Amino acid sequence: MVFEMEVCGACRTCEMACSYHHSGEFNPDISSLRIRQKDGEQGYVVQLLEKNEGPSRACDGCRGLDVPVCVQFCSEGDVLTKILHKFLTEVGD
Ligand code: SF4
Ligand code: SF4
Repeated sequence: MVFEMEVCGACRTCEMACSYHHSGEFNPDISSLRIRQKDGEQGYVVQLLEKNEGPSRACDGCRGLDVPVCVQFCSEGDVLTKILHKFLTEVGD
């Protein structure tokens, strides 16, 4: 599922944090979250995985944590929180 994130600066810290959450390793291939440049225009989108895809893990919403790990390390954490909330509502978590 893909969400617009106008304020994302593409630092990709969230990808690293998410992979660490799943595996204890810093490896963006494992992350549930992908930061992608918009096609043909400026800005970024956030893709969140609903199911495992190869080495990439489905987003579990960091269940059990007060603040999801990706949000903890995002400079735009309030915006990322809203995106996660929409995602988790859509996937029925
Ligand atoms: S940590 Fe936040 S600002 Fe950095 S890439 Fe991820 S969503 Fe964008
Ligand atoms: S909420 Fe989802 S995308 Fe964010 S760190 Fe947790 S598993 Fe990864």
